[in-house]
Amino acid sequence: MSVPSIPDSILRLPSRTAEFGALLARWCAINSGSGHGAGLERMRLALADAFSQSFPAAKVEILASDAPGRNPEGAKSLRIRLRPAAPRQVLLCGHYDTVFEADDPFQGCRWTDADTLNAPGASDMKGGILTILAALEAFEAAPGASGLGWEVLLTPDEETGSHGTRALFLEARQRYDFGFVFEPARPNGDLVHSRKGTGVFVAVCHGRASHAAKIPNDGRNAILALAEFLLAASRIPAELPGVLVNVGNIRGGSAASNVVPHLAQAEIDVRVTRLSDREPLLARLQALVDGVNAREGFRLELKGGMNRPPKECMAAEEHVFAAWQAAAADLGQPAFTWVHTGGASDGNFLSAGGLPNLDGVGPIGDQLHSDREFCRVPTVASRAQLAALVLHRIAHGLVPIPSRPRLPATT
Ligand SMILES: [Zn+2]
Repeated sequence: MSVPSIPDSILRLPSRTAEFGALLARWCAINSGSGHGAGLERMRLALADAFSQSFPAAKVEILASDAPGRNPEGAKSLRIRLRPAAPRQVLLCGHYDTVFEADDPFQGCRWTDADTLNAPGASDMKGGILTILAALEAFEAAPGASGLGWEVLLTPDEETGSHGTRALFLEARQRYDFGFVFEPARPNGDLVHSRKGTGVFVAVCHGRASHAAKIPNDGRNAILALAEFLLAASRIPAELPGVLVNVGNIRGGSAASNVVPHLAQAEIDVRVTRLSDREPLLARLQALVDGVNAREGFRLELKGGMNRPPKECMAAEEHVFAAWQAAAADLGQPAFTWVHTGGASDGNFLSAGGLPNLDGVGPIGDQLHSDREFCRVPTVASRAQLAALVLHRIAHGLVPIPSRPRLPATT
């Protein structure tokens, strides 16, 4: 079978790598920690500027993304839309917050070699947002773009759980046929096949204080009861494959060691591979809570719950992933596959909303959430080539995506 021709604008992307590196370094120099309202605003303005310059005909909207007590007041998302009435509609998304707050020692950018930028958010995920920009520029410059409408959604709170923006992802199913999440690729270039769902629980154990030396001792040691609960909870994954339970922190007691402590508390991170794992996990946790509460003098409260549902692979995603691989082969790029990962992303919310999506389509990098985070900058261009070529083929009807019932376009 002959390979359909590849537009010049897509072939030329790697020649723009120096330009992409300079822009990525400028973006990473702006601190946009999830809790730094002024920095997030600076970043949002820089992104609005870049996208409106590249796509003057696009509609740029600013969306309130408040989540009182969680997001900085006035946090906003950015939505850029072009051709909302075209026959096919796709969503491309990324987050512009990072885990590095204004007072974090990791600030600024460092080139560790000619191709590698070590900087906060270099691959997670300012590099991904740059890949969206580059891909859409090349796609728009290619013939036949009119067959496809797109929305770019850039959000300020992914790293803290997307509390102010999850509704935007859940409702995206009403307007789009398919989504692309530009989280970084795995370090070997693989994409993401599925992601675990995540939750956080806080276990608060109440006992009864007394003098440590009292005989007989009627104290109820909250630390020990909580420790037994945590040990039992940490064994749940042995019975439920696909579930992870991590006790993340613990505190309890007082400064005095001659007191039987009346209070102890711990935070637990839980993850599930399938939505169907959720209920058995919750039932086991509740049974353990009931066990503690059946003991005289103890009371255990379990607060919190699941945050992101798991992202399970949908059939429609397999076709688009195959198209992504075919694009790599046609461009002479290295082969890759897709893998399951325990980390969640906003792709989890797209899946929960019923929107098939391909995740991990951003550039290659590693050491996320550490001061060693880096992005292989030439992969911004090569991954943008893949995205642009698949979008081009979708626009020409060469890559089928499922058509979904949609709300009428508003503009
Ligand atoms: Zn992250």
